Amino acid sequence: PKKTVVITGASSGLGLAAAKALAEQGWQVVMACRDFQKAEKAAKEAGMDPENYQVMHCDLASKQSVRNFVQTFRTQYQSLDALVCNAAVYFPNAHKEGVFLPGLFPGGGPRWSAEGHEMSFAANYLGHFLLCNLLLEDLKKSAPRGTARCVILGTVTATVNGSELGGMIPPLAHVGNFEGLEQGMKAPVTMLDGGAFDGAKAYKDSKVCDVMLMKELHRRFHKETGIVFTSLYPGCIAETGLFREHYPVFQNLFPAFHKTVTKAYVSQEEAGKRLAAVVADDRYGTSGSYYSWEGEAGTGGGGGQDAVSNTDKDFDWFMNYGSFRTLSIDEI
Ligand code: NDP
Repeated sequence: PKKTVVITGASSGLGLAAAKALAEQGWQVVMACRDFQKAEKAAKEAGMDPENYQVMHCDLASKQSVRNFVQTFRTQYQSLDALVCNAAVYFPNAHKEGVFLPGLFPGGGPRWSAEGHEMSFAANYLGHFLLCNLLLEDLKKSAPRGTARCVILGTVTATVNGSELGGMIPPLAHVGNFEGLEQGMKAPVTMLDGGAFDGAKAYKDSKVCDVMLMKELHRRFHKETGIVFTSLYPGCIAETGLFREHYPVFQNLFPAFHKTVTKAYVSQEEAGKRLAAVVADDRYGTSGSYYSWEGEAGTGGGGGQDAVSNTDKDFDWFMNYGSFRTLSIDEI
């Protein structure tokens, strides 16, 4: 039987590229997307064979939608081989509430999920937290076959180890002692550390939580279940929809900057292959690993796939934040 993978946010960018790569390798791809029509159109335009994929509605910013997705999935699929937590939103210009200068600060303050949590935290982390918890049962069933993997997207911009250039650009990720989380992360609380709202920081903080989630899932469930939990940074895919709310001048210059100056640039297609490899390739089957790539081979940088590291040391910086804490599944 075909192996089945669920990929969230597969309607564009990295998720779509990985969906296409895995479908071409013979996987059945369930594209868990908030915009059904957009996802169908994207899959068709990417030339994906309808035999190899199915779009299912899933809005990660609503716990009911996540639960509905899992129910629907189970009516159609007996087992799950891999879950890819890929979807994310990024509001780089949202800055402070009330500040609105067209073209300069187009964001205008925080946005909220169905349950009233700040949107980047809700969509990037909380929805995935719930999805992982629910689909753990389904992944367990395929673990004896040695195929079960749960993969989460991190980012170099959330690193705090002091050696990654991408992690030194302010605002820096900082979740503090989760003061905001302790207070429920609902209005007027927007940030995990309880500080003032900053859209770019909210994104980075949510990504720190994603990688910690993977690490914690590994610690709690890998031995018992055999499921392989990993996270990755696939390089800087400078042209995806992630930057849709950035200044136009940034959108134009960002890819060139990363191609020539930082050499961290990677095409959507190559990044999709990297993510597909973390899902399917034996080389990336060490649970607890954070796989990190540099630039695309050919554009310089760290030599493509050779730059992958998988030592436990890579997690130290995430652990600088102290013990992992999160809402329990009953609270969301
Ligand atoms: P895109 O914006 O192209 O893709 C993000 C996807 O997430 C879209 O399909 C989007 O759906 C979906 N999404 C957003 N909100 C929700 C929601 N509430 N429910 C369900 N789906 C949602 O960006 P990328 O491809 O660049 O990003 C993919 C992942 O890669 C992210 O996790 C990002 O953090 C990570 N990443 C990206 C890097 C880069 O350089 N681009 C670098 C490092 C990591 P819709 O199409 O409907 O908007």
